Amino acid sequence: MNTSIMLFTRDLRLHDNPALTAACAAGDVVPLFVADARILSGPMAAPNRLRFLADALADLREALRAKGADLIVREGDPAQEVARLAHETGATSLHLADDRSRYALSRLAALRDLGLDVTTHPGTTVVPTGDLRPTGGDHYKVFTPYWRAWAATPRRDVLRVPRKISLPDGLYPGELPDLDRPGVSPALAKGGESEARRIMKSWLTGRVAAYDDSRDLLSDDKGTSHLSAHLRFGCASPLELAVAAADHPAFTRQLAWRDFHHQVAAAFPDLSRRDYRPRGTRWRSDDHALKAWEEGRTGVPIVDAGMRQLRHEGYMHNRARLITASYLTRDLGLDWRLGYRCFRHWLADGDLANNPGNWQWVAGTGNDTRPNRTMNPLRQADRYDPDGVYVRRWVPELADLPGRTAHRPWDALDTPDDYPPPLTLPNGG
Ligand SMILES: Cc1cc2nc3c(=O)[nH]c(=O)nc-3n(C[C@H](O)[C@H](O)[C@H](O)COP(=O)(O)OP(=O)(O)OC[C@H]3O[C@@H](n4cnc5c(N)ncnc54)[C@H](O)[C@@H]3O)c2cc1C
Repeated sequence: MNTSIMLFTRDLRLHDNPALTAACAAGDVVPLFVADARILSGPMAAPNRLRFLADALADLREALRAKGADLIVREGDPAQEVARLAHETGATSLHLADDRSRYALSRLAALRDLGLDVTTHPGTTVVPTGDLRPTGGDHYKVFTPYWRAWAATPRRDVLRVPRKISLPDGLYPGELPDLDRPGVSPALAKGGESEARRIMKSWLTGRVAAYDDSRDLLSDDKGTSHLSAHLRFGCASPLELAVAAADHPAFTRQLAWRDFHHQVAAAFPDLSRRDYRPRGTRWRSDDHALKAWEEGRTGVPIVDAGMRQLRHEGYMHNRARLITASYLTRDLGLDWRLGYRCFRHWLADGDLANNPGNWQWVAGTGNDTRPNRTMNPLRQADRYDPDGVYVRRWVPELADLPGRTAHRPWDALDTPDDYPPPLTLPNGG
């Protein structure tokens, strides 16, 4: 009997998992997760994401056990643990999801050195990263032509959960890693494939149809899918979602943005550190303003509402991400990397492609074709939170101010004492 190892990384699901399906088709399988010390102690290991990951692993183990298999868990260096298990089980092949981050590529190189038959599979994006290239370039630098090519690309089949997952006998399953850290957001969403599928089902049979109208309305908490962290950890398959939502291009376009940033990050692995398109911007340094922004105390209600949602939920509405990021970089004149790091700390969906890719887009150093675009926070607030509902929800000091007054408390006769006046902007605005 052939035995192979299926190494789960950020594809923590049984549905539509090409690496798992290929491993199962070949014979016995060792479904393995290695709690990798380098990832679990680095800057990507924020308390919210570790909590989400813990949920996802527990759910994955339960799903595998329900199929008569198990999730084999080890801690340490992935290549060493794979080598040990290959030796123990006689496995000769290894399957895993394709991943193009710098660290994932170095991990893959170490795995390839083990002498196993290593195959990488699609599954972390809708269209595999690197499959689409413009003539004369290695990646798309602008979204619209990418989107056109993306939409026209034939999709592979969506895969079912493998019928049978047979584990070699006598393997020690290992304990799930302890991923509890202090500082988890009080209203962080739950991770795991079961939860992802529950959300997908209700989204696809309900609100997706109205997405184009609701996606920018800050007060409408159900106007977007809330699937980003599930996609981040692979609890949901991006391809399955794109195929099921094929009749809703306003929504699949966002999945294409996700793929787009992945191919940019693969071609430019320094995306979280260096300007993609340097324009000689001179950033200011202002610790006081940065701290006020991080804590949701800038005195600009729509900005503070977004930042408080982020801290409370480990999530922020996309429109609020745009407004808060624009305020930090364009109004306060602070370096996008500072904002990126704050988001990286809190976001359950925070990753190495979408987070810096979007920050650079807003800061004008990235893929935006209009790098001088600015967003006036008050105008944004009036447009996307016309009745002040979002602001009153997240900034309780302003809860008694009616309608749009909540956006400009400094104009109200009785501005609450406990709400700060707006920060002074460098341009005097
Ligand atoms: C400054 C800034 C930082 C961001 N950082 C991240 C991040 O770290 N991780 C992340 O997943 N998204 C990031 N985004 C994109 C976007 O805000 C979130 O994906 C979205 O708000 C998640 O909510 P949702 O799942 O309800 O999205 P929906 O509106 O339901 O969209 C569906 C899916 O499409 C993808 N998507 C939507 N918008 C974008 C986008 N602009 N770029 C890339 N993918 C997108 C996400 O996977 C999302 O789950 C960032 C945006 C900004 C402006």
